[in-house]
Amino acid sequence: MTLHQPNLTDPSCKACTGTWPRADHFIADLGLSKAYLHDDQFFAGWTVVVFQRHATELFHLSPTERLQLMEDVTTVANALAKTYGAKKINYELLGNQLPHIHWHIIPRLASDPAPLEPVWRVPHEPVLRPSSELRSDIQRIQDRIRSVR
Ligand SMILES: [Zn+2]
Repeated sequence: MTLHQPNLTDPSCKACTGTWPRADHFIADLGLSKAYLHDDQFFAGWTVVVFQRHATELFHLSPTERLQLMEDVTTVANALAKTYGAKKINYELLGNQLPHIHWHIIPRLASDPAPLEPVWRVPHEPVLRPSSELRSDIQRIQDRIRSVR
């Protein structure tokens, strides 16, 4: 078996250089990953969980890292479900536009305009809320993360 030699940072990667996600959308440092509210809040509570170092595929992680990352994702999903009263949580790991492991965790609410569609298939104008408006959402998610860990 060939072990993958991790590339700790990639200077051309927005996640590695800290230009994405926005620092003022930071929710929590989970250990191997960090959670941030996504820029587009059309789906309220849309969160991204970004792996701590540059890696593009799950098979680039050690088994221990993969397990911990799934724990991080689960913790955030649980907190979001409770914070927003979600009917369902969506989990998406794509990386086509930004090849650095980041999970999209998206609460789908009873008021969802297209509950059968993945969010990418729901036409909408992005809802870009100023960080001052997001503070109370971030605070509520942080409180929930503390309570579910
Ligand atoms: Zn990266």
